[in-house]
Amino acid sequence: MSGILTYTPVEEIPKIRDDLRATFKTGVTRSLEWRKRQIYQIARLAQNEAEAICDAMTRDFAKPRFEVIVAELAGVVKIALKSAEKLEEWAQPERPDVPDSQRSWNPTIYKVPKGTVLIISPWNYPVILTLQPLVGAIAAGCCAVLKPSEAVPHLSGLLAELVPKYLDTSAYCVINGAVPETTKILELQWDHIFYTGNGRIARIVASAAAKHLTPCSLELGGKSPVVVDAAYDMELAAKRILWGKCNNAGQICVAPDYILVPRQKQDELVRGFEKAYKTFFPNGALDDAHYGGIVNDFHFKRLSAMLDRSQGEKVGGVFEGRRDPERRRFEPVIVKGVDENDSLLDEEIFGPVLPIVAVDSLDEAIGFINARPHPLVLYAFTEDPTVKERLINETQSGGIAFNDTFQHLAVAELPFSGIGESGYGYQFLRYSFDAFTHLRSSVDIPKSEESNLSLRYPPHKPEAYQV
Ligand code: NAD
Repeated sequence: MSGILTYTPVEEIPKIRDDLRATFKTGVTRSLEWRKRQIYQIARLAQNEAEAICDAMTRDFAKPRFEVIVAELAGVVKIALKSAEKLEEWAQPERPDVPDSQRSWNPTIYKVPKGTVLIISPWNYPVILTLQPLVGAIAAGCCAVLKPSEAVPHLSGLLAELVPKYLDTSAYCVINGAVPETTKILELQWDHIFYTGNGRIARIVASAAAKHLTPCSLELGGKSPVVVDAAYDMELAAKRILWGKCNNAGQICVAPDYILVPRQKQDELVRGFEKAYKTFFPNGALDDAHYGGIVNDFHFKRLSAMLDRSQGEKVGGVFEGRRDPERRRFEPVIVKGVDENDSLLDEEIFGPVLPIVAVDSLDEAIGFINARPHPLVLYAFTEDPTVKERLINETQSGGIAFNDTFQHLAVAELPFSGIGESGYGYQFLRYSFDAFTHLRSSVDIPKSEESNLSLRYPPHKPEAYQV
């Protein structure tokens, strides 16, 4: 027990895993009908328990109700319903196109569940980042342990109540806790680990997984740049960037982290930010119910220190940059004229601070991006096909989104993944199903093939091994 969240006793953890494995062995989770029922239950959970979930999120970090419903619950429902609808198609065995000589071998790819899997999720979008991979695991026919984040104790406690209420407890279960509990979980063997969170812990997870040769999906973060083309409408770019940055007070893996804008356009872009900010939050964001809080004191202090160390010019006027440590409220801050050694360019910001770096050419912007680890997403505001082509061909990132921020996540049919420091392993709909599925290859050689195969048996005649 830690404060308001009851931690799972460490000594119970191995038995929880063993019980799920015993369930997996019975084969109950393989039935497509059974999987669909469980997936529909997740959609019901998200719909029926919306009030309780919104309340928990308000208590944890003042997450606005609108954001919980639109960005988390509606997403869970959409993904669950679509996965249930598509399940039969995804689970169908595939018959690859093979040479005529192998047709009679019946080459087949069976989609089989990996087994009993572990899903570790973070605090920033704790509902969708826990339930969305769970839908994938269920769709694939796996049993699963969910390990939500201790940083959102009300929500993680609620999940521990709701999962048994909606799902089959012999196949799915929540383990709550912090480092000791997670360390114990990671000592055990799993058939896949799906981790979402920061890169430092990802290395701990991947090292623990390696001891058992367990495959992992690592959904991480990073510094996602925004390139703004001189010819683009600065007001519109500013509005769309600021919206992406204000969601969840910037605590998003795909938040615009820093902006690369042509030097002569920097002030016009700043004026766009001022206009958008006044429209979004006429009285400032400090007490606005449509703007969330910072998750805990650690992150509040981390953001404050990062901002205070910055040598860039803090935009004043409408951006008052007020902070209230007691309530962990942190108004959006725009910092212009940031140079490459600034504290704001050291690590992922993960909060409502937005540095602007002025550049003199597209070449310089591309060089800036390529000098840093591959981001989770690259944003670019441009209508110029040549600029788009160059960014696609000359940079690397998990995804690339043109002319808006955050919105690529709304297209669940697209695979979502990092690359390099932003992680690996694809997710969303079909790609989540695939993450938890083993492709089991099969051939079935008929007796009638014996004459075609006879050359392989010793003693070998020279014509048997001519290339
Ligand atoms: P967090 O602190 O909640 O940690 C994530 C999980 O790791 C939690 O369940 C936590 O209990 C567990 N954990 C903590 N210490 C551990 C340890 N020593 N050993 C094993 N497990 C441990 O969340 P966070 O990491 O602060 O999340 C924010 C990060 O996640 C950001 O970097 C963000 O960009 C990234 N993120 C990525 C995605 C994505 O889909 N790519 C989505 C959301 C967040």
